[in-house]
Amino acid sequence: MIIDGKKIAAKIREDLKKKISEFKFSNKMVPGLSVILVGEDTASKIYVKNKEKFSKEVGINSQVIKYPEKIDEKTVLNKIDELNKNSEVSGILVQLPLPKHINKRKIIEKILPSKDVDGFHPLNVGNLSSGYESNIPCTPQGCFLLLKEVEKNLNGKHAVVIGRSNLNGKPMAQLLLKENCTVTITHSKTKDLKSECIKADIIVAAVGKPKLVKADWVKKDAIVIDVGINKTESGIVGDVDFEEVSKTVKAITPVPGGVGPMTIACLLKNTVECFKRANS
Ligand code: NAP
Repeated sequence: MIIDGKKIAAKIREDLKKKISEFKFSNKMVPGLSVILVGEDTASKIYVKNKEKFSKEVGINSQVIKYPEKIDEKTVLNKIDELNKNSEVSGILVQLPLPKHINKRKIIEKILPSKDVDGFHPLNVGNLSSGYESNIPCTPQGCFLLLKEVEKNLNGKHAVVIGRSNLNGKPMAQLLLKENCTVTITHSKTKDLKSECIKADIIVAAVGKPKLVKADWVKKDAIVIDVGINKTESGIVGDVDFEEVSKTVKAITPVPGGVGPMTIACLLKNTVECFKRANS
């Protein structure tokens, strides 16, 4: 089974659109998302443009605040403060990476946890790892929803997460743990990655190494979620050798068209949840 992230993300957006038009009808209010973009990074500009496009599509009031590369940290912090206080702003996102002279941690910590739609604020990270309600980072949340499309009950499954970044690997592991999986987190210092993967019922690869996961690393009937986006001469590929691995496994996400579309869908979902909590 090829897990169609595009289709599942479109369904999430359709549901959000309905919910938002209901809010509009009942209290004349809609969720608002403010995105701060610093500098001219090409990939960041594309991501922000897509976030804006899909926000508008579902009816979220979206605003992009652009600053030049050389902007000082204080101006960005002051802007976040202003957005924190603005009741029309349900969610705030600062597009990463930031220029080196801006302290990423300070910026993330300045965003009100209740408006932190990326789920990167330490309070949200702590709540997720304690099993409490929190804003869940968008990409791992998307992976999790894709997984649940294939397998409703993850109880006792052995999951191997490849990669331990704050963005992907660590929150992914927490989500799987919360669902009673036995979780192994692997990384660049893991001694024998193949022998870890071969035991897995679920593999989530978030590495950034083209086709790292080979067919003989994967158990028959495993579910494989590929987060990787790698530019190669033959186009964009994931961290999994899709052509070979897809022949044996129970289910797998393609790249592109798997996890990618889910990331933005989950950002919109987080924005709507922040709005609901603020207005309940
Ligand atoms: P990252 O911060 O660079 O983290 C990569 C992780 O992989 C690190 O934990 C690293 O280990 C580990 N690693 C590196 N080489 C390894 C190896 N040979 N064996 C096992 N582990 C290895 O990357 P990231 O931000 O999590 O992103 C990972 C991938 O996902 C990238 O391709 C990125 O473009 C993609 N991505 C996709 C989406 C989406 O929407 N689909 C969103 C975000 C990112 P150490 O900790 O030991 O260094």
